[in-house]
Amino acid sequence: MNHDSHIASVLKALDDHDTFYLLGHEDPDADCLGSQRALGSWLGRRGKKAHLCSVGPWGRPEIFDWEPLFIGKIPPLEDGDQPLIVILDCSSPERTGFPDTALPEAVTCVIDHHAAGSDFGDIRYVDPLCPSTTLMIQKLIETAGDEPTAEEAEILFLGFCTDTGYFRHVEPGRAEPLEAVSRLVAAGASPAETFRLLAGGRSLGSRKLLGRVLERSELYFDGRLVISWENWKDWRELGSERDSDMLYQLMMSISGIEAAAVIREQNDGICTVGFRSITNLDVSDIARFFGGGGHRKAAGCTMSGDLHDVTEHLLQIFADRFD
Ligand code: AMP
Ligand code: MN
Ligand code: MN
Repeated sequence: MNHDSHIASVLKALDDHDTFYLLGHEDPDADCLGSQRALGSWLGRRGKKAHLCSVGPWGRPEIFDWEPLFIGKIPPLEDGDQPLIVILDCSSPERTGFPDTALPEAVTCVIDHHAAGSDFGDIRYVDPLCPSTTLMIQKLIETAGDEPTAEEAEILFLGFCTDTGYFRHVEPGRAEPLEAVSRLVAAGASPAETFRLLAGGRSLGSRKLLGRVLERSELYFDGRLVISWENWKDWRELGSERDSDMLYQLMMSISGIEAAAVIREQNDGICTVGFRSITNLDVSDIARFFGGGGHRKAAGCTMSGDLHDVTEHLLQIFADRFD
């Protein structure tokens, strides 16, 4: 699908407004926050005012330092403001984690690369084939005839690397995104520095937790599915720092494996579940069944119940898919 007309409508909306509320999804990653930061920085260069809003939590080491740049609340409208609300890396107000009532009455624009989600938003630029939302922001900046600054390039490159597992999930025939990120490197982004940022800076506790979760892994359906779990007791003991993709990488390296699910049990009867797939099995479909979403090969959802209930429920659904 050609997105030129969507890009043009977003650029017109960005041109038509002077104040912006840039929102991403809750439990933000570097693609979501990086899209907010880079777009905010570019708008700032054009003399506009952008509020970067995120409910957090700030559990991922690669974005720890970014927390002071974001506000955890939607600031009130100032007199005469006619803002544009831009929702990035997700497609609905609920996914932002802000209560509906917190959002001001305003024109809304959605920029996202997830297929799931509603048709929410007055202006929509949604491209499920784009590997990261940061790449969509780069396209906006470049289509406007501008170039990312060195700092924007660094942030945009980090978002791309986060969502592609540092290029591991780039599909065959996708030269265009690679050409785009090569321009980011030319503008100052460092692949070496970005890898260190994504792979390093972890606490010893988080490495021990990785070992513990691997140890708990169980195989199902003749070794096609692996499930493991962690819970609030683990986090109390070892810290709740979010792993990068390392756990999934190790789980998906088991011979014969097709999909993985990691259940994170909170202490309030709620579990969040992360999914990965390396075959045609579409885990976003499973996540959507439970009210979540994501991509075909990486998805997530929140489910009520304890570890036992959630495991049983997941096995029932996966049984249909592995028939
Ligand atoms: P994660 O396992 O947290 O890295 O998430 C993998 C993918 O699933 C990302 O694209 C997330 O945005 C998406 N995702 C995770 N949890 C949810 C949820 N509760 N609702 C919708 N999408 C989700
Ligand atoms: Mn994201
Ligand atoms: Mn993303």
